Amino acid sequence: MNIPRTSFPRVVIIGGGFAGISLAKQLGKQEVQAVLIDRHNYHTFQPLLYQVSTGGLEPDSIAYPIRKIVKDYPNFYFRLANVVAIDTENKCVCTDIGDLNYDHLVIATGSKTNFFGNSEIEKHSMVMKTIPQSLNLRSLILENFEQAILKSDLEERNALMNFVIVGAGPTGVELAGALAEIKKGILPKDYPDLDIRQMNINLVQSSSRILPAMSEQASEKAEDYLQGLGVDVWKNLRVTNYDGDWVSTNGTVNFRAATLIWSAGVKGATIAGVDGEELITRGNRILVNEFNQVKGFDDIYALGDIASMQSEDYPYGHPMMAQPAIQQGKHLGKNLVRKLNGKEMKPFSYLDKGSMATVGRNKAVVDLPKFKFQGVFAWFVWMFVHLFFLIGFRNRMVVFINWVYNYVRFDREARLIIRPYKKYKQSSSD
Ligand SMILES: Cc1cc2nc3c(=O)[nH]c(=O)nc-3n(C[C@H](O)[C@H](O)[C@H](O)COP(=O)(O)OP(=O)(O)OC[C@H]3O[C@@H](n4cnc5c(N)ncnc54)[C@H](O)[C@@H]3O)c2cc1C
Repeated sequence: MNIPRTSFPRVVIIGGGFAGISLAKQLGKQEVQAVLIDRHNYHTFQPLLYQVSTGGLEPDSIAYPIRKIVKDYPNFYFRLANVVAIDTENKCVCTDIGDLNYDHLVIATGSKTNFFGNSEIEKHSMVMKTIPQSLNLRSLILENFEQAILKSDLEERNALMNFVIVGAGPTGVELAGALAEIKKGILPKDYPDLDIRQMNINLVQSSSRILPAMSEQASEKAEDYLQGLGVDVWKNLRVTNYDGDWVSTNGTVNFRAATLIWSAGVKGATIAGVDGEELITRGNRILVNEFNQVKGFDDIYALGDIASMQSEDYPYGHPMMAQPAIQQGKHLGKNLVRKLNGKEMKPFSYLDKGSMATVGRNKAVVDLPKFKFQGVFAWFVWMFVHLFFLIGFRNRMVVFINWVYNYVRFDREARLIIRPYKKYKQSSSD
């Protein structure tokens, strides 16, 4: 890997997501040699992926080069690589560009889509965990309309304009809202020769309410918003299969749809070597103690989505969201410095700053620990928070300008099929 051994202890971080980057920023100027490994050379701001999928933002504006983040850190190395295994006995990570020894290892690999073992759904559905996957979805949505114009068979044409989104967490809700806005504001202008009223957006949720992790007030309001936008919200309905044409459910309704978007769950992206049964808990996450140390190791840590730190308040670990990842990364950075200086590490405690989701123009729901609100103000709060957490001044400016432009013009200009998507020929893996 071409990384020299120095007198500083080597900390290897796998993953440049919210957790890995937050840790990197803490360690950057310390007396450690830090090596960050990621299979992408950029950090992805996942909460805005749905805007890339729906042509609201260009992909570059939600990605940031990792090398630029760490460029001012004197003892920092970045390597573009896929980590395939961890050899805990020899304290070594095995990657597709070679092996590397560590003194301390931090696993911050995040999560991947969970199909709950249904390989048919995995094969035929679209997912949205990475920028390439979001671009695939963007292409497919537009290709569907280009195909629909050509179809004389009404059923086939309607299937191309029928979208089924499975899972009504923030991702499903935000995507459904964005598709509804495209239906209303853009498609009638772009496709005057298509009867856009035949486009259906179905949001399917297996439980009794959408946004189940938020307050009931937020769920109800978000559902009102979606229905107002013309989204069909199906609750207490479970999708059981999808063969690429028909979506089957456990109810009496089945959908004929060319596109099924799976946002029904994620699971920890574990790596061979630290994936033993005794280490893995609900959601395929790695069990860690209050210092983020992996059970049974004092030199291996796990952070963010992949880590399950169980406590009385969080019996299944912290929510798989950006804030726990950021806070754990920062905390571990301080703890590692303490440990290397012979001091005691301090236990992590999560500060819940609340959660939010937007449904579209002027419509959002916000749950803060002390109060909850919805509507235009919530929408501005949502935008401000997302701009604040985006990395890079240029990205913030580009996103801000895009949003103002889209708001004033009722537009989404990035509706481009740059990279045609060939359904069934590309893998949907993360
Ligand atoms: C569509 C979508 C919308 C979301 N919206 C919100 C939201 O609104 N609010 C919110 O709080 N959270 C949201 N989340 C969740 C949030 O993005 C995650 O909780 C957060 O990214 C977790 O951070 P992390 O650092 O643990 O993992 P990630 O940010 O996923 O980073 C993991 C990194 O590890 C790398 N990696 C993984 N495996 C390997 C390997 N074997 N070798 C090399 N590199 C590897 C990946 O390339 C990636 O860069 C959303 C997620 C998605 C997918």
